[in-house]
Amino acid sequence: MTKKFLLGCIADDFTGATDLANNLVRGGMRVVQTIGVPSEPSNANANAYAGVDAVVVALKSRTIPTSDAVAQSLSALRWLQSQGAQQIYFKYCSTFDSTDAGNIGPVTDALMDALGTHFTIACPAFPDNGRTIFKGYLFVGDELLHESGMRNHPLTPMLDSNLVRVLQAQTKRKVGLIDYKTVAAGSAAITARIAELQASGISMAIVDATSNAELVEAGKAWKGMPLVTAGSGIAIGLPQNFGIHATMADIAKSSELLAPQGLQAIVSGSCSVATNAQVAKFIAQGDGQSRAFHVDPLHLMAGADEAVVTAQALAWAKEQFAKSTSKPLLVYATSTPEQVKAVQAKLGVEKSGELIERTLSTIARGLVDLGVRQLVVAGGETSGACVQALGITQLRIGPQIAPGVPWTHTGELHLALKSGNFGSVDFFSEAFASLKA
Ligand code: ADP
Repeated sequence: MTKKFLLGCIADDFTGATDLANNLVRGGMRVVQTIGVPSEPSNANANAYAGVDAVVVALKSRTIPTSDAVAQSLSALRWLQSQGAQQIYFKYCSTFDSTDAGNIGPVTDALMDALGTHFTIACPAFPDNGRTIFKGYLFVGDELLHESGMRNHPLTPMLDSNLVRVLQAQTKRKVGLIDYKTVAAGSAAITARIAELQASGISMAIVDATSNAELVEAGKAWKGMPLVTAGSGIAIGLPQNFGIHATMADIAKSSELLAPQGLQAIVSGSCSVATNAQVAKFIAQGDGQSRAFHVDPLHLMAGADEAVVTAQALAWAKEQFAKSTSKPLLVYATSTPEQVKAVQAKLGVEKSGELIERTLSTIARGLVDLGVRQLVVAGGETSGACVQALGITQLRIGPQIAPGVPWTHTGELHLALKSGNFGSVDFFSEAFASLKA
């Protein structure tokens, strides 16, 4: 009989799922990430789940209609419950990516209803990546959320940094705050504060956090809570609740992957500040210009349809790989906020996003057909589309490239899914270098 999972996680996008899995692996847990809700019980595929402590079900539910996001999340919950998961973790972005319609609030409501639980937390803090929360206000590095690049996000522009307000707009439950003073006082003070909040009719609380030490200490207060909702940051405080304390050797062992092979490529659909800088750096380096192909959404719209652009990109890739098999190629739609606005004005937000995601993911599949075996995808939604187009159902989590981004492995492919805002300006070269090392 398969061992019961300790932690069952539901992630609202695919890069977020690997980000969470990465933090759990670093906390000593053995983790499997599934793409979508598995169609069979874990004991039907016992090898894949042998010795696994946590399963992360990756959904692509961040920007889909709310009713679909709720239905998919509940289906993931049912599967995780049927496998005996002791605690449920709803994972969203560390920049709280959502719109007034959701989907963070409505999915949390639905999970709380289904679990019959009366209290949960909401904590997107991820100090390793500069996401900190103070008095309920989310900071991205030194800027408030609404002053950061997130104000220009193509799908979920974040225009308010006060998370109590943002979450309250999305839920029927009352939202409160566990503030920095309580968090600084430690887990017992947090537990006392939760009782106080519940007594005043509050069922969800944003949690202030500015450091890993706080997240580890606060983690003790989440022990036994049926549902936690968060970015990936609080994951570092959960393994201890299940008696797991990792050494460096444990982490290295649980993140070992097979040796890399094949050609290298990057597919980028993120328009974040970080990805714009990473793409610009790739192009500026050496022969980067000739190793980069720009997918221009305006060409897709101008009637030179998806199939033509895809064929052009792949013919170009074939030619470039014939010149060198040892250097990565970049295919990108990444653009500045002004360019994104121009595209969206012509095509609409949803339609342009879908069109570009579909084109990039078909190109990603074509690149793998050409022999790419080390693939970096930049962008959460873009990664979701690529993983689906590649027909991937499960990923093994490997070593970390940068905070929030591990290499993963499936079949013959090494795959890194980078959330738009993550990674240094040299992320792409660091990624391939770290796989060789
Ligand atoms: P991030 O992780 O930065 O949020 P995502 O991939 O989740 O990145 O979201 C970026 C969205 O922007 C995708 O839907 C993508 O298709 C879309 N997009 C990419 N390039 C452009 C562009 N040039 N114009 C408009 N939308 C774009």
